[in-house]
Amino acid sequence: MSEIPNIKLNDGNLIPQLGFGVFKVDENDAERVVSEALEAGYRHIDTAKIYGNEEGVGRAIEKSGIDRSELFITTKLWNDDQKNPKDALDASLERLGLDYVDLYLIHWPCEKQGAYVDAWEELGKQREAGLVKSIGVCNFLPKHLDNLLSPGGEPIVPVVNQIELHPTYQQREVTEYCRSRGIEIEAWGPLGQGKYDLFNEEPIAQAAKAHGKTPAQVVLRWHIQEGNIIFPKTSHKERMVENMDIFDFELTDEEFLKIHDLERGNRVAAHPDEVDVD
Ligand code: NAD
Repeated sequence: MSEIPNIKLNDGNLIPQLGFGVFKVDENDAERVVSEALEAGYRHIDTAKIYGNEEGVGRAIEKSGIDRSELFITTKLWNDDQKNPKDALDASLERLGLDYVDLYLIHWPCEKQGAYVDAWEELGKQREAGLVKSIGVCNFLPKHLDNLLSPGGEPIVPVVNQIELHPTYQQREVTEYCRSRGIEIEAWGPLGQGKYDLFNEEPIAQAAKAHGKTPAQVVLRWHIQEGNIIFPKTSHKERMVENMDIFDFELTDEEFLKIHDLERGNRVAAHPDEVDVD
């Protein structure tokens, strides 16, 4: 299996382009699932306070014996904690059993709450203090990013924006805005969360046949060639291995473009304007 490429973030840190996500992995199962993912070779894990599994993730990391410097661990600031990011990060670190995380993300802008710009400033301080190496956001639209990037002084540019993105929902306005400002795109739900019949879309099924790969591998390969950072989730060891085995083939320009053309605004999860604090 070829090596997973790194992407250089705008603060100079490196992130493995392929990682492993643990949304909807139950705390009781998280240690087993993450241990298997680490055994399969994943070194980048994406969790969040709201997933309720940081302790299980932490136990798997500890038991793996893998040197901390070889791991890239992301967690996220939940909406209710935007007014107190320092305590929230301390608590996440405690649950994970880590001294620092590689990436800390604001999980949703929660525009009505009106706290994300101040929270961003706080995250900058935690980065200065060494509790987190890089900081970024999730589910931010250009209007939210404008507010982070336009205060007086030198703004801190998020290293990533983690957004819902799969072949039928590509959010090109957001990706173009981000890429033109040096913000990398992390695609969550890279397989459409298994919520629609992505794998039978013709260009995907055809490319899978042509390359002797599964449709899931074709979709993940498409993300890699798009330049997206991805961390597909699965609880099954065979699929963990399958989802990593995407670096020994390349989609042709024609195959790539046919998948690119599947865009049809097919959002499968919440829109940023729908998520806020009660
Ligand atoms: P995903 O697109 O990774 O889909 C996961 C589902 O795809 C699995 O439950 C399984 O049913 C299926 N699957 C996985 N591998 C497969 C394979 N090889 N063959 C067939 N089916 C397969 O969706 P996701 O888990 O929501 O997204 C990935 C990660 O993104 C999450 O685990 C989480 O870390 C992150 N995420 C972030 C946000 C956010 O708001 N920031 C929201 C959702 C997810």
